[in-house]
Amino acid sequence: MICNKCHIDRPLVDFPNNKKFRDGKEKTCKLCKYKRNAEWRKLNPGYRHKYYVENIETHKQQVKAYRESHREHLNAIKREGYSKDSGRYREYSRKHYWSKEKGSEKRFARYTRYNKKIIKELKPTYVKRLLSRKMGLNYNLIPESLVELSKTQIQLTRILNERKPQWNQ
Ligand SMILES: [Zn+2]
Repeated sequence: MICNKCHIDRPLVDFPNNKKFRDGKEKTCKLCKYKRNAEWRKLNPGYRHKYYVENIETHKQQVKAYRESHREHLNAIKREGYSKDSGRYREYSRKHYWSKEKGSEKRFARYTRYNKKIIKELKPTYVKRLLSRKMGLNYNLIPESLVELSKTQIQLTRILNERKPQWNQ
C-alpha cells in the first residue's frame, strides 16, 4: 500500500490498524505517523500533563471501571503473585527458558560455566552487568574507565575477604 504522506509503497504491516477504515488500515504509514506525533509533541510541550490534569476524573473512572470489569482476572494475577519483580516469577521464567528445547541441560551447563568464568576473571561484561543492576546505570553507556575502577574495587574486596582470617590472627 502507498502511504499518503511519504508516497512510499510499504507492506501492510507498516500501517496502523484502524477499524474506522473499510480495510481496517490507516492510510498513513507508522513511520510518518510516529514522526508527525513526535513533531506535535515538540510543538505542544506539557500537553500530556495538562490533558491528564484536566481529565483526571475521567481517567480515575476508567481505571475503576476496568478494575471492576476485570476483577476476576486481576485477582487471579494477584493470587499467582505474577510480578516481574518477584523471585517466583523470575525463577519460573528462568526454568521455562532453559527447558524450552532439547539439550537445554547442556546449554545451561555451558551458560553456568561461562558465568563462572566471567565472574572469576572479572570480564567487562560481568562488571558492567553488576554496575547496571546495582547502580541502575545504562549497560551500554558505562565508560571503560568506570569498568576498570570497579574491577579494581572488586579485586580489593576479594583480597580482603580472602586474607581476613590470616590478618586477624
Ligand atoms: Zn509514510
